Amino acid sequence: MNKKNKSGEKKIDRRTFLKGAAIGAAAVALPLDKADAFWESFLQKHFTELSEADIAKVLKRLENEYSQEYKKPVSVNATKPQENVIYGYGLDIARCIGCRRCVHACVTENNQSRDPEIQWITVLKMKKGEKLYDLEKSDRYYNPDLVPEPGYFYMPVQCQQCADPPCVKACPATATWKEKDGIVVVDYNWCIGCRYCMAACPYGARHFNWAKPNIPVEELNANTHYLGNRPRYKGVVEKCTFCIQRSRNGRYPACVEACPVGARKFGNLLDPNSEIRYCIENYRVFRLKEELNTKPQFYYFFGVGNRRKP
Ligand code: SF4
Ligand code: SF4
Repeated sequence: MNKKNKSGEKKIDRRTFLKGAAIGAAAVALPLDKADAFWESFLQKHFTELSEADIAKVLKRLENEYSQEYKKPVSVNATKPQENVIYGYGLDIARCIGCRRCVHACVTENNQSRDPEIQWITVLKMKKGEKLYDLEKSDRYYNPDLVPEPGYFYMPVQCQQCADPPCVKACPATATWKEKDGIVVVDYNWCIGCRYCMAACPYGARHFNWAKPNIPVEELNANTHYLGNRPRYKGVVEKCTFCIQRSRNGRYPACVEACPVGARKFGNLLDPNSEIRYCIENYRVFRLKEELNTKPQFYYFFGVGNRRKP
């Protein structure tokens, strides 16, 4: 269905068009400057094939679009992967207290919809002594005011940035791919909303925008990345990107900074002195659903009393 923006103009996006809206009607329904933007957006090449000049034009177009919508300057960058960097993530289950501060830091940093609610991180409450990997049956709706509860531990789950990601293989539009630094990204301008990637992901890490995402204007994080936290559209899929807008600029993901007990570790898997390498080399780490051979770059461990023997 065609959408109307705040000034009452019809807005027709790629998904609407692909679902059968008439392109002639799309063009004539828009004022000239908006029609230009529509055609530029619709005819945009695949992101990985864009020249530097093309990317600069795309970013400018989006910055104008978002700045008008949110009534403040919004920057959209496309910082590239650094050489010799593959990101890895560690989670110390023994430390996590299930407070969910990581969840809320992630929502704010990455401009996730508040209503309908989208959260890229899920924290699962698990009974001590029970089978560890039963993600589907674990309690994700526990009361965070009561944590930590005796007899339970907490296991946060988010995109595992798999080295062999089934979500990427499932996408018929090549709208999602793995970058050189290991981050699996989605181009919201190419996603056609078929949700095949969601079905393919064994970790429930992808989320669909059933409605236009709702972010309070005053809470919008205006520092965005094209492949990350820029505002999304109705009908597209999104997921954790290790805070691509921060990590590629040498900063920790927001969840790492927000965790009050230091349960979250992050760094370059190729750097022997990184925090993540320390965790992998000194603790008995494991990866979720290892048997599926998705090769997550996300490692779990119990950091207390679980050091590897020298
Ligand atoms: S966790 Fe899911 S969304 Fe993330 S890379 Fe793996 S299969 Fe894809
Ligand atoms: S912020 Fe840290 S302690 Fe709290 S739920 Fe997240 S990982 Fe666990």
